[in-house]
Amino acid sequence: MPDIWILRIGHRPQRDKRVTTHVALSSRALGASGIYVDTEDKVLEENVRSVVERFGGDYKIETGVSRKKLLKDFKGEVVHLTMYGQRLDEALPKISKEKDLLIVVGAEKVPPDVYQRADHNISVGNQPHSEIAALAIFLDRFTDGKNLYSDRDGLLTVIPNERGKTVVEKNS
Ligand code: SAM
Repeated sequence: MPDIWILRIGHRPQRDKRVTTHVALSSRALGASGIYVDTEDKVLEENVRSVVERFGGDYKIETGVSRKKLLKDFKGEVVHLTMYGQRLDEALPKISKEKDLLIVVGAEKVPPDVYQRADHNISVGNQPHSEIAALAIFLDRFTDGKNLYSDRDGLLTVIPNERGKTVVEKNS
């Protein structure tokens, strides 16, 4: 499986703090390696790193990243999630499982250069909904659901349980 990176564009720190945090946490939970955010936001970085420190893995976050430079320099395939794109079921077989993947999600209007640079403009249904939902469904299907319960070797590990909460704490 290639490394999967997320590019979140149009992030407005005050307005989008919860949504962008959830874009990061959902993509981490579903197997992405990290997220690039176009606007600098140190609070967002701290919040995401704090989850990584406790729950494990090596998910990376970088904010204040130039969208244009990243899209130009990225070595791999670029997927842009947009309700105007090609059907997800038709697009999935065309995406390389060898090359790294950069998945772009917007906040507000997405500039035309993203549509042009993307190797695949993909819709997750043809109704407007949410970047969190679109990303989660895409990642789960692209990885065949393999990351839902993968071990992250964290200080805290949640053990699935029919009832109650089971959390194992690693001795540090
Ligand atoms: N109105 C904006 C536009 O025209 O680009 C989109 C706003 S939407 C709340 C934010 C992001 O959610 C989009 O940029 C896209 O990445 C994602 N999104 C929303 N609905 C989607 C869908 N049906 N399929 C794929 N992505 C979707």
